[in-house]
Amino acid sequence: MSVDSSVSKEVQPESVLLCPQGTTAAPEQKLLCIFGTGDLGRSLGQRLLQSGYRVVYGSRRPNSCGPLPRGTKAMNHEAAAMSAALVFVCVHRENYDFLEALAPQLNGKVLVDVSNNLKKNLYPESNAEYLQRLIPGAHVVKAFNTLSAWSLQNGPSDANRQVYLCGNSVQAKQAVEEMATKLGFAALDRGSLSAAGELEDFPLQLFPEWRLPLRVAVGLTAFFFFYLVIRDIVYSYVEKRKDISFRIMVSLANKVFPIVSLIMLALCYLPGVIAAYLQLYRGTKYRRFPAWLDRWMLCRKQLGLIALGFAFLHVFYTLIIPIRYYVRFKITESTISKIRLNRTSVFDTTTAWCADSFYSMGILGFGLFVLLGISSLPSVSNALSWREFSFIQSKLGYLTVFFCTFHTYLYGKDRFLHLSSYKWFTPPGYFLSLVVPSVLIVLKLLLLLPCVDRSLTRIRQGWERTDPEDGSVKGFVPPADLMLFSRKHSLQAAGFSPVITGSHHISGERSVQTPPSLKSSG
Ligand code: NAP
Repeated sequence: MSVDSSVSKEVQPESVLLCPQGTTAAPEQKLLCIFGTGDLGRSLGQRLLQSGYRVVYGSRRPNSCGPLPRGTKAMNHEAAAMSAALVFVCVHRENYDFLEALAPQLNGKVLVDVSNNLKKNLYPESNAEYLQRLIPGAHVVKAFNTLSAWSLQNGPSDANRQVYLCGNSVQAKQAVEEMATKLGFAALDRGSLSAAGELEDFPLQLFPEWRLPLRVAVGLTAFFFFYLVIRDIVYSYVEKRKDISFRIMVSLANKVFPIVSLIMLALCYLPGVIAAYLQLYRGTKYRRFPAWLDRWMLCRKQLGLIALGFAFLHVFYTLIIPIRYYVRFKITESTISKIRLNRTSVFDTTTAWCADSFYSMGILGFGLFVLLGISSLPSVSNALSWREFSFIQSKLGYLTVFFCTFHTYLYGKDRFLHLSSYKWFTPPGYFLSLVVPSVLIVLKLLLLLPCVDRSLTRIRQGWERTDPEDGSVKGFVPPADLMLFSRKHSLQAAGFSPVITGSHHISGERSVQTPPSLKSSG
């Protein structure tokens, strides 16, 4: 194959055949072997064929193993193992015993273990390590176990593009990595074969990062539901002999949803504020947060999304209020009784102001809340710069908390001052829902005080109160030096070395933004 050197690569038309047909033989397609003609074996074989490989199956019943992808053939295990350098073991671990007898044929070959287990910690060692023990002469690589037969057959989509792999032989891993790339997957090396157990646990996980937020949501919903049933329904029955249990379906639900939503929204921002106070207290950002705070921080997105779900429910339930039988009945009854008694009501401007502000705050809060939810979608957040993302999630996030909290305060107005609101000496539900967001807002406002903000910024840019070398406690840097400190730090972090020509004079190459790693987590 020769290409006219005078034609530059850029100007070659795409349709030009660089290798005229028939002049050279097409490169021989690699032959791969698959043990097991079950669901995964067949899907994998199909995908390998589509990607240009030849496939041979090793089966217990090569002549009666059912329909296989066209172009493949089935043999007994020995013959199949001898024909290829790379063998996929698409057999359940419980049936690995037969492989021990094939050790001579599999010696020096790459064995890809795709198996999973039904439960965690079912065996003392991982399936891949067990396979390696059975055939010590082979190079076992754990891979493809996180993909389903279905996704293999349908080709990689964004959600399942990754193939995690691990193994002790670098060459074997490279071979599997190349093959996975050719199949259209992105291979991610997770290290030696000792990581196989972790990879085998992956498919057994059920929404791991959603568990805590869902528990919090269920716990809060159950608590407030029963709390409000007792305060509203049972109280009315016991004290006034009135059965208002029908209110459970809409009125009560529409009290529980906003309460849970507001608390969870505040819980989404609270760990960031706690982390900031912890950093201020410790005088460094280099000490790990306690495990509970780490865990809490890691599920903020899920907390926020569940809170948004409850906010949507609140909106839908509010929209149906005018068409409810109870509401229509009450309005009609009050209008008729006013006509009968020839009574008119006086328009109260203060009430109108409060009602309009209440609705306005609710709509603004919900609108921003939806924006936060949309910006947390990977496809949207990937299109945003770090600064844009943190502006929406942090600044607009706190504004959302403020609007929603104010909306709830306006709902209660001065009702919390009335003794009649405390049925059986219990505060109203909305009153309880204000505790966490109010604490959050106060703590956040304190962090915004210039002196506190300055210290926190300095700590987050790497300053430490205690000298890491000799343990001596440093004094605070005078505010004038702070600018010099932070500028120098951001320049250095971005790979620039500022030229300092006087105590307060800096001349850098160009202005540089603080890199994401130095941004505050709050
Ligand atoms: P399967 O449909 O039950 O197929 C297993 C195959 O293993 C059988 O078709 C059989 O092939 C062979 N086999 C059965 N008993 C055997 C024995 N005693 N000795 C030797 N070979 C035996 O299972 P699968 O769904 O394909 O799963 C295969 C492996 O892939 C499992 O380890 C599973 O954990 C893993 N995996 C599956 C999926 C999935 O979506 N299905 C996803 C990820 C990982 P022959 O009759 O041809 O010998």
